[in-house]
Amino acid sequence: MNCPECGAVDSLCRTRFDELMALEFSDPAYFGTVHNLTVATFMLQHSSKLTKEGWLYERELLREFLVENKSPSFIRKQNKDLVDSGKRKFKITSKDGKRIISKTTWKKTILDVRTENAEVYCGDIKAWARSALEDAENVGDKIK
Ligand SMILES: [Zn+2]
Repeated sequence: MNCPECGAVDSLCRTRFDELMALEFSDPAYFGTVHNLTVATFMLQHSSKLTKEGWLYERELLREFLVENKSPSFIRKQNKDLVDSGKRKFKITSKDGKRIISKTTWKKTILDVRTENAEVYCGDIKAWARSALEDAENVGDKIK
């Protein structure tokens, strides 16, 4: 069965995500400047893991990286209070399993990311993230 959320074939997205995380943490060239994108994009495509505020927060993060070209360290500093869960006023993750958006036809999924070398990898992560952001910005009234 394909993933009911991102549409990945045989629901291989979760396994793939774990593999890519292992790759990023074992090789700094893969972690590169894309680690935040990998995580945020995966979360965005699996909205049942997030609260509505959390989903919108991840989408905004992606926009700041991709459109405003803010560096991960700048965003970390800017969002320090927000991501410090002690001070954050809303929850990011949700365990109720309810999806924020019903979209299942994403143009790209994590399975489109190739891993031959770090350059290809980082390029593909960015392409996947851009595509997902575009899809996510077009859901509008589908947000519950
Ligand atoms: Zn999926």
